Amino acid sequence: MSTFAATTVLAAATYGDFLVGLVPVAVFALVIVTAGYLTRCWLFPFTTCHHSDRYAWRCRRCQGTGLRLRAGRRLINHLTDARHRYHR
Ligand SMILES: [Zn+2]
Repeated sequence: MSTFAATTVLAAATYGDFLVGLVPVAVFALVIVTAGYLTRCWLFPFTTCHHSDRYAWRCRRCQGTGLRLRAGRRLINHLTDARHRYHR
């Protein structure tokens, strides 16, 4: 094995360890971001609808109110709904 190849393997191994070390950090960051997003969806379930003013009256997403339920809140509603059904 040449010195160059050995260095490359060593560098790859170090880089691999670096990536493996990043996994818990990435998972933690993802959990934080998801929790933050779901909390926001819980506290502020509506977001503004981006329909054009001309078609507001027949907007199917918001029924012309300009307020649209967030995708995350729809998910929460779906989950809580399923849970309530399960307990009934
Ligand atoms: Zn709309």
